[in-house]
Amino acid sequence: MIKKKNLVFLGPPGAGKGTISEALLAKEDITHISTGDIFRAEIKAQSELGKMAKDYIDKGQLVPDEVVAGMVGSRLAQDDCDKGFILDGFPRTLPQAEMLSAELEKCGRSLDGVIYFAAADEVLLERLTARVLCKKCGKVYNKIFMPPKNAEVCDDCNGEIYQRSDDSLDTAKDRLKVYHEQTSPLIEYYKKQDLLFDINSVQDKADVLADLLKVIA
Ligand code: ADP
Ligand code: ADP
Ligand code: ZN
Repeated sequence: MIKKKNLVFLGPPGAGKGTISEALLAKEDITHISTGDIFRAEIKAQSELGKMAKDYIDKGQLVPDEVVAGMVGSRLAQDDCDKGFILDGFPRTLPQAEMLSAELEKCGRSLDGVIYFAAADEVLLERLTARVLCKKCGKVYNKIFMPPKNAEVCDDCNGEIYQRSDDSLDTAKDRLKVYHEQTSPLIEYYKKQDLLFDINSVQDKADVLADLLKVIA
């Protein structure tokens, strides 16, 4: 059983936050909150929130802080977060981190750790431009490193495999720039709060997971 249960997964796009979340969830019953996944579900449902978010996502920019923080705040207030949670891809700016503290306080929760998934830009671009996923269940694959058994269909649910439009080389580069400018200051922010745990993401998935388990056990 893990000891640190209320977690933030921080790191650049393509570092493997979603992949390692999935691997951890196979071992531990905690709640996974991925803001990117929520936006993609809203876009699929053609909701107002989805339409608004799509404009930003397609350009590789961040959705405005208030929108994301409000969404995460109401999600964190739900009972299934009592057993622990992974915030995957939130916060991504300093204002979002401040808003997160306020939201956590409102629902009587606190963070046990912020896991920083480190990887160099060359690795990230290689991973992002080869990332594919299942249209039906969202499972993430990689054309080079973790291909589905059949290139066109999901191993788990037979859903169609597709590539995210924001994983084109140009948009991926833009997203990395946004990460360095707006998100990377959070490393120092959480280090100062003594919450930061550094993990090398450039190794086999099993080894990344093993390092994570050492940190949160
Ligand atoms: P993030 O959620 O941080 O953006 P993902 O989990 O979606 O990252 O991973 C990005 C891409 O890299 C995916 O295609 C995934 O299959 C692949 N990937 C994840 N972890 C590893 C790893 N340890 N080694 C090689 N490829 C990986
Ligand atoms: P990745 O893991 O590859 O960075 P995500 O699936 O986490 O991608 O996010 C996809 C897009 O959704 C981001 O590029 C951004 O436009 C939007 N998004 C996700 N989380 C946030 C957030 N915390 N703040 C602002 N925008 C976000
Ligand atoms: Zn699937």
